[in-house]
Amino acid sequence: MREIVHVQTGQCGNQIGHKFWETISAEHGLNDDGVYAGDNDLQLSRMDVYYNEAAGQKYVPRAVLVDLECGTMDTIKSGPLGKFFRPDNYIYGQNGAGNNWATGHYTEGAEIVDSVLDVVRKEVENCDCLQGFQLTHSLGGGTGSGLGTLLISKIREEYPDRMMATFSVMPSPKVSDTVVEPYNATLSIHQLVENSDETFCIDNQALYDICMNTLKMPSPTYSHLNQLVTSVMSGITTCLRFPGQLNADLRKMAVNLVPFPRLHFFMVGSAPLSATTSESFRNLTVAELTQQMFDARNMMAACDPRHGRYLAVTAIYRGRISQREVDHQMIEVQNKNSSYFVEWIPNNVKTAMCDIPPAGLKMSSTFIGNSTAIQELFKRINEQFAAMFRRKAFLHWFTDEGMDEMEFTEAESNMNDLVSEYQQYQDATADEELDYEGEYEGEYEAQEELE
Ligand code: GDP
Repeated sequence: MREIVHVQTGQCGNQIGHKFWETISAEHGLNDDGVYAGDNDLQLSRMDVYYNEAAGQKYVPRAVLVDLECGTMDTIKSGPLGKFFRPDNYIYGQNGAGNNWATGHYTEGAEIVDSVLDVVRKEVENCDCLQGFQLTHSLGGGTGSGLGTLLISKIREEYPDRMMATFSVMPSPKVSDTVVEPYNATLSIHQLVENSDETFCIDNQALYDICMNTLKMPSPTYSHLNQLVTSVMSGITTCLRFPGQLNADLRKMAVNLVPFPRLHFFMVGSAPLSATTSESFRNLTVAELTQQMFDARNMMAACDPRHGRYLAVTAIYRGRISQREVDHQMIEVQNKNSSYFVEWIPNNVKTAMCDIPPAGLKMSSTFIGNSTAIQELFKRINEQFAAMFRRKAFLHWFTDEGMDEMEFTEAESNMNDLVSEYQQYQDATADEELDYEGEYEGEYEAQEELE
């Protein structure tokens, strides 16, 4: 048994987390009370990864729900899944974080972090062999970003050899109108670089563009955006939840996708795209799924993969699909686009298959790419950060909570370093001389291996 403990923090974290549980529970044949009502043994074979089993074939999500205000929690509690979660696992404050990272990380958040850790510990104690944690949060607000990253660092301290995966929602002015979001996001990314093993970047800018341009929705809501988020979260976790060999746990997934420890920010996507559950799909072919999955317009990060190169890619196909056809299509994509895959990591594209398609579809595919083009996202946030920080605009909100300006400077330079590291590997070729000293831990080892 290889269990995962799920933690969702803040408004966004709880909204996407809630939708995730709703979706995967349906895929595993559970009704709203968590009782199994399915008809396929595959649904039950790896339930222990995400659920604790209670009496009467009832399954309880191994989920901890955290917020600094009660609004989102109350909505979940009074909704159809309200009784699905363990009542003790709802932990919330009353004062909110006011979109301030410092409040979430240092003041209000620090007051409830111990009670959250108590619940996390209790869940871990009930595990047979914990593989790690996954956290859902946004980086633009105060709770998910500030308290979320505080939790990550505390959990890491206590369980240093377990995996930490995050589903992190990146802010976009197209979707939100809080000006300090680039500050909150940069401070969070600074933490994620050090303390997360795998971060699935979910960029509100890309979600918004997909809704507007591809799905032709005039005014997308969070609920539409979150439908996209769920499709990709369900796809990414398919290999963890259903039997199979490839990427069967968080660590194996990281081994295939993370060639250098700091470069663990993934571009994700899914096909076919839909922002409503009721949309009817025409039947797609494996060729169309593959083509869509690699298309820049399907990426849930507003970055163009053609501006970078792939260090590694994992593709997950779901439904009754011929393995031969998938292999054929995947080889085709790589051959046609070989310059977009670094040649110094041979066989850097992996494919997983799962017989069970998501609800309402015959087949689907999910894409996870470690592309150097992700630097475009960090550059975008950095530009917005730098414009304000240059004039120290809005800084007093953070220093009033006890933060030092130095932490902003450090966060900014760490994110800039990250951008340069991606650029360095984007430019690297297989036969160049590797005679320089690696600047970062891990990088140097990899160079030695190459030689
Ligand atoms: P917190 O409760 O303090 O963590 O604050 P929020 O989660 O509301 O953070 C604000 C950021 O999250 C902004 O960038 C919002 O656009 C984004 N956000 C809030 N709710 C949602 C949601 O349900 N879905 C998505 N995709 N983004 C959200």
